[in-house]
Amino acid sequence: MAKIHELSETLTNQIAAGEVIERPASVVKELVENAIDAKASQIEIEFIDAGLKEVIVRDNGSGIASEDLDLAFRRHATSKISKERDLFKIATLGFRGEALASIVAVSHTEVITSTDGIKGVKAEFAGGEKLSEETHASTKGTEIKVSDLFYNTPARLKYLKSPRTETMKIVDIVNRLALGHSEIAFTLKNEGKLLLKTPGNNNLRQDLANIYGRFIAKDMIEFSKEDPDFKVSGLLSVPETTRSNRNFVSILLNGRYIKNYQLTKAILAGYGSKIAQGRYPIAVILIELDPFLVDVNVHPTKEQVRLSKEKELSRLITEGISTALLENTSQVSALANL
Ligand code: ADP
Ligand code: MG
Repeated sequence: MAKIHELSETLTNQIAAGEVIERPASVVKELVENAIDAKASQIEIEFIDAGLKEVIVRDNGSGIASEDLDLAFRRHATSKISKERDLFKIATLGFRGEALASIVAVSHTEVITSTDGIKGVKAEFAGGEKLSEETHASTKGTEIKVSDLFYNTPARLKYLKSPRTETMKIVDIVNRLALGHSEIAFTLKNEGKLLLKTPGNNNLRQDLANIYGRFIAKDMIEFSKEDPDFKVSGLLSVPETTRSNRNFVSILLNGRYIKNYQLTKAILAGYGSKIAQGRYPIAVILIELDPFLVDVNVHPTKEQVRLSKEKELSRLITEGISTALLENTSQVSALANL
């Protein structure tokens, strides 16, 4: 007797959601990345109860056409890639077409979106099913409200950390995406309280001041270096300002926040003996490269990537940082000798 059957779409979406949407901060990350891909110049994020009761992300990007709405919330449906070879040169943050389908599978979600600022559409979803859709006046862009996250997957709720930790994870991902996108004005509010506001005027130092404080940001050292494959730039704390963990190092690769052990090591190597072992700088490292040189299709959350010239990039980062620190030291000592 046959025992095997195909799973329903609702169930496969819930399974996929387990990989993409681990916690409230994953919802924030995916929605903000979509807003960035939609070329928004303003992104507003609000959340309540560490993101479990509500996460709202509002952008003034391209909007979703009403004809596309159903597909946008279907798994493996995307506007960002279409051909096999696109997979080897991903220029957007998203491409897997999984986030919205995963989010609606494990929450109550409401979307209001408009591509022209005149006519728009509003739809509601719960547990992966669309409950309603109607025309709705809206400014251009998209607002997605995710409520009661994991209401239908209680096992997920149990696995979450304290509200304080989950809140910190939301703040952390927004901070890093804001640092990687100084051209976008971000606001982040927790239960109405403003936690972050960046002006979106391409001023990384100002964004850093908003996140880590003016006192730290004012002394940070600019660096920039390029070779034919990579352009690296950013801001580095002076060696006297260090932290006991690597959480204050943000690496953004073509605007994508990534975690990468080798590149973090390369940053530390740039500081060399100027900082003690076990200490880490505060740093924002922006890397631009041909998307052809990186495989982002390694993990559903895309935080880990595979670089084809990792050694060369590491060397460039180390050299760029050590030169910038050296120049800064000689400037400081020249001033001291005046
Ligand atoms: P992906 O980002 O991998 O394409 P998502 O599930 O996150 O998959 O989104 C599906 C599609 O919905 C996107 O390809 C995009 O066309 C559309 N979309 C999602 N969010 C937005 C947004 N904020 N503004 C405009 N379009 C959006
Ligand atoms: Mg996406």
